[in-house]
Amino acid sequence: MDGNIALIEAGGTKFIVGVGDVSRRILARTRIDTTRPEETIPAAIDWLRQQGGNFCAVGIASFGPLDLDPASPTWGHINRTAKPNWSDTDIAGPFGRALSCPVAIDTDVNGAALGEWMWGAGAETNSSLYITVGTGIGGGAVVGGHLIHGVSHPEMGHIRMPRHPADRDFAGLCPFHGDCLEGLAAGPSIKARWGASLSDLPSDHIGHEMIAWYLARAVTTFQAILEPARIILGGGVMATPGLIERVRTEAVAGSNGYFAGDAQKIIVAPMLGDDTGLLGALAISRRDSLALRPI
Ligand code: ZN
Repeated sequence: MDGNIALIEAGGTKFIVGVGDVSRRILARTRIDTTRPEETIPAAIDWLRQQGGNFCAVGIASFGPLDLDPASPTWGHINRTAKPNWSDTDIAGPFGRALSCPVAIDTDVNGAALGEWMWGAGAETNSSLYITVGTGIGGGAVVGGHLIHGVSHPEMGHIRMPRHPADRDFAGLCPFHGDCLEGLAAGPSIKARWGASLSDLPSDHIGHEMIAWYLARAVTTFQAILEPARIILGGGVMATPGLIERVRTEAVAGSNGYFAGDAQKIIVAPMLGDDTGLLGALAISRRDSLALRPI
């Protein structure tokens, strides 16, 4: 693939727009506030045009849910999102038409999963699962070099959970399921219970044990389904000191040593750092031709 790649990390509060090349370099970037589609998307296109144009592809890593069914007339659209003004927005089409090149799109979580497998903590494995724990919880998996999709992308944050014995009264915050994994362990649920982020709670506060307990159960559930070589835990909540160690310990204890391998090597932190979003968009643009679609 010759030429540069237009990169879009489409988030609920900001779009990070960039230019990348096939050597994995990010050559330029900017930030655009996410307001309304008719403002934000043209602003991103204008900036990309100012970078000299001549793109060979567009890679988009977007908040979702997204329509990723190649046979769907609304492929590349954001659908049924809780974010005001963005439901049923065609996000892939405007970039492809304006820049006259094919578009690859997937979720921001899948982008991070693919980027970490290509260049980060999942490199040189045949299977890698990425879970982000932040404002929400999401997961993506790469097996044999391919992101796993069904008719759409996975929604791993919405698995149902057993209840921690000291967490019987909290209803959970997921607007769809209440006490699913995201409803019990994402950042807003921590603030709702204890009025602070996990990293601001004292290290002996039960919140640390409780959130690690939920995440460890999620980890062992995904191990049972997929047994991936790596389970990469990222996102703002995972930046809490000591949390990944607690998750590892609880995952080993909670599964009675059932799963193969060394938890230290399997349950790991991400490696791509602040560029995860744009590198995810770049990874999406470079995967197999199935996803790179002319508009
Ligand atoms: Zn849910």
